[in-house]
Amino acid sequence: MLLNLPDDQPCLTPRQFGERLPANELESPLGQQFSPEEMLGKLVGFPTVSSQSNLPLIDFAADYLASHGIVSHRVPNADGGKSNLWATIGPDVPGGVVLSGHTDVVPAEGQPWTSDPFTLTARGDRLYGRGTTDMKGFLAITLALAPEMAAAGLQRPIHLALSYDEEVGCLGAPSMIREMRETIAPPQAVIVGEPTKMQVVTGHKGVMGLEVHVRGKPVHSSVVHEGVSAIMVAARLITWLSERMETNRLAAGNAGGDSLFVPPYTTLHSGRIEGGTAHNITAKDCRFTVDIRTLPSERSGDYLAEFQAFAASLESEMQRVDPASGIDIVRRSDTPACRREVQGEAEALARALTGDNAEHAVAYGTEAGQFQDEAFSTVVCGPGDMEQGHAPDEFITREQLAAGEAFQRRLIERLKN
Ligand SMILES: [Zn+2]
Repeated sequence: MLLNLPDDQPCLTPRQFGERLPANELESPLGQQFSPEEMLGKLVGFPTVSSQSNLPLIDFAADYLASHGIVSHRVPNADGGKSNLWATIGPDVPGGVVLSGHTDVVPAEGQPWTSDPFTLTARGDRLYGRGTTDMKGFLAITLALAPEMAAAGLQRPIHLALSYDEEVGCLGAPSMIREMRETIAPPQAVIVGEPTKMQVVTGHKGVMGLEVHVRGKPVHSSVVHEGVSAIMVAARLITWLSERMETNRLAAGNAGGDSLFVPPYTTLHSGRIEGGTAHNITAKDCRFTVDIRTLPSERSGDYLAEFQAFAASLESEMQRVDPASGIDIVRRSDTPACRREVQGEAEALARALTGDNAEHAVAYGTEAGQFQDEAFSTVVCGPGDMEQGHAPDEFITREQLAAGEAFQRRLIERLKN
């Protein structure tokens, strides 16, 4: 649904092709008001790629909230280089709603972008920029509406929860979730605003991230039998992942494949690999990443155990040639699946606010399962389409931004009573 504002609102005048929107100027945010689109311009202007600090964005958000009388709390990482931020708007009583989103984005480097990924750029109905869909659009709406939330006379609170390092394995949120659980009056629901086209998503897969280091023995490739090629071993490990996924695919097909999940089985994938020295030397090292996305009904630990068992069998072959060779597997992240709750309060609330009564699941991971693990009733529901997430020329439509805004306005109305 599109929101019509009067003509004297400069933020929503028609935009020209390729026009650059207000980005991240240095002016003080004291007491300033932003439309969601203007706020999105601000947020996109912070290049909060997960490898970088998110503190400039967090500072901006904390100052902005403070300028509207909203006290926020930081929960930093170990070295203080990144931080979560949470805040309560309204009375700290039970029955509130947590609006949750991550501040970090995936890199734009190496992707063919038509415009600067960190400058919000409008073309027609589309607003381009890294993170517009995943998921600064949701955060922009939430922050833009925060002054209204503060002025609304809420009977039950809205809690904001901004995390870091979601894109690298949901590493940031758990410390904030624990602190919120210990601090705030129990909320009724958590809405994780990842892009679902405003559908109510009650399930997604778990995601486990591994890093594998194969340690070989370098020799000239004319005497390959005297060496251990880390690359050749890595290839067998990766082939195992591929075959294990094929087994799952066939099993899902035989079972009728009526699952909510697309694809309807646990996937195993390697997205990055490096190793070797030259074409005629057996590789001393090969490193690759693995991600395993499990259905809520399966356990990531079971897949890890199978993979480790296969690696152990290869390792004993390698060590017959060189006892110093081997395979190291490190678990970098293990994000729980989002499970559909029995009579979940978050689901009921989101359905009431959206009118969406269909069952939806998504194939990507979110922080929802981490909230559920701390006993928060949680669903995923936010503006934008994950089709555009992580892609070059990522965009969100103004229509989706308006739909997300309408959702939050309905939430404000509901919490006034
Ligand atoms: Zn996301």
